[in-house]
Amino acid sequence: MREFRLLIDGRLVSGAARLDVINPATEEVLAEAPRADRAQLDEAVAAAKEAFPAWSAKPVRERGALLDRLADALEARKDEFARLLTQEQGKPLSEAHWEIGFTIGIIRYHATLDLPFEVLKEDATRKIVRQHTALGVVAAIVPWNFPMLLLVIKVAPALLAGDTVVAKPAPTTPLTTLLFGEICGDILPAGVFNVIVDQNDLGDALSSHVDVAKVAFTGSTATGKKVMVSVTGTLKRFTLELGGNDAAILLDDVDPVEVAPKVFGAAMMNAGQICLGAKRIYVHDSQYDQVCDELGRLARESVVDDGLKQGTQMGPLQNKAQFEKVKGFLEDARRHGKIVAGGEVVNRKGYFIRPTIVRDIPDDARLVTEEQFGPVVPVLRYSDIDDAIARANDSEYGLGGTVWAKDLDRAFRVAARIDSGIVWINTFLDVSPDISFGAAKQSGIGTQLGPEGLEEFTQVKTITMAK
Ligand code: NAD
Repeated sequence: MREFRLLIDGRLVSGAARLDVINPATEEVLAEAPRADRAQLDEAVAAAKEAFPAWSAKPVRERGALLDRLADALEARKDEFARLLTQEQGKPLSEAHWEIGFTIGIIRYHATLDLPFEVLKEDATRKIVRQHTALGVVAAIVPWNFPMLLLVIKVAPALLAGDTVVAKPAPTTPLTTLLFGEICGDILPAGVFNVIVDQNDLGDALSSHVDVAKVAFTGSTATGKKVMVSVTGTLKRFTLELGGNDAAILLDDVDPVEVAPKVFGAAMMNAGQICLGAKRIYVHDSQYDQVCDELGRLARESVVDDGLKQGTQMGPLQNKAQFEKVKGFLEDARRHGKIVAGGEVVNRKGYFIRPTIVRDIPDDARLVTEEQFGPVVPVLRYSDIDDAIARANDSEYGLGGTVWAKDLDRAFRVAARIDSGIVWINTFLDVSPDISFGAAKQSGIGTQLGPEGLEEFTQVKTITMAK
């Protein structure tokens, strides 16, 4: 079994303890991960603090060049990363390749960015200049659904901005992050990037740490609220990307046969464990039966298996706790709705649930009001588009959403009325490192990616000079 180690102050070290990482497709131990204790967390933060002055003083182009070297190193080992990602996370290898490819793209994009002084105003009497300075130590806290992408979306802007980082993956998916740590250890100065692993017990200590300047967090809304409490002690900066319950609204002019595979993909990618996934599907009365039938057919035809097997379209749920949670939603679906397809756990080792389409379920069922984060999706009927929009917006979440239509003008008008940070029309997950996105309501605070995302890792400062 391969050995993984923490990265603290440029050294690969054993943890104070160890934890088993389970392959969710087999329920077997894939590897042991090192588990840090509080003292190692403090060492990692101290190392990042120590490294900060020299790192932030480096010219931005030098930091960018080092990011490019990281991207090269990841690219050279992308097959190994994708395979390990599938083994620890469960997603099909093709999706793991997509995630690693996008991860590399995010690093390369940030390598090109700059943080120049901007002259805001200049006249005969004075000059006013804006500067973006680095913040200090950034805590990057990551969930288990996209362990690499959601790590690098924080780490790349932080490093380019001149911040140093202590990263903490989720305990069930630490291996790709630890492997990334090995690469960083070879390329970056000691202490600039550190990785610790916990058993869900060090998040609070990290986000409340007096020497951490910013917390970049992705995870559930419940944990995000705890992070918000943790940062108050020192009024740290923070970015929160949290849960979602995104609506897919199909207008009445869609072709059900053509649109169903696209909506199905938006709901079932990564076995539904995607923050921006379609979690409620609203269909016009006139097409409801046909869309339900098409989605049901696609669910029945889906190949659910170990993500490493060729031809697999959907892997297992990532961990036992999530598996149990989604089983609870299945129960809710059975009790309150009609199951069109799926509805059962696959009778084999691994946390497999068949893609499940549920119809005729009331708006107040848990499957509709809560974030299921699994392959069990309700299809809801509407007859009036205003009513569909109101129901889509009747949620504490406001992460994303999709609109599907032939008439693009109408679709745009609907999209403009959805209360969320991102809406796609006739497409899904069309993300790009240079386009920033945020979230509405309880789905998060702050912006990721693009120049605006980079600014979140800096302190804005104005310098006013009298002439
Ligand atoms: P989670 O909130 O349980 O855990 C996320 C991370 O927070 C883990 O690393 C965990 O160890 C850590 N953590 C736990 N307690 C903490 C504390 N008190 N302080 C600080 N950190 C703590 O989330 P999860 O179950 O791993 O991930 C699923 C959730 O993430 C879903 O709700 C999903 O929608 C959300 N998510 C959101 C986005 C987005 O961009 N908005 C992206 C992916 C996932």
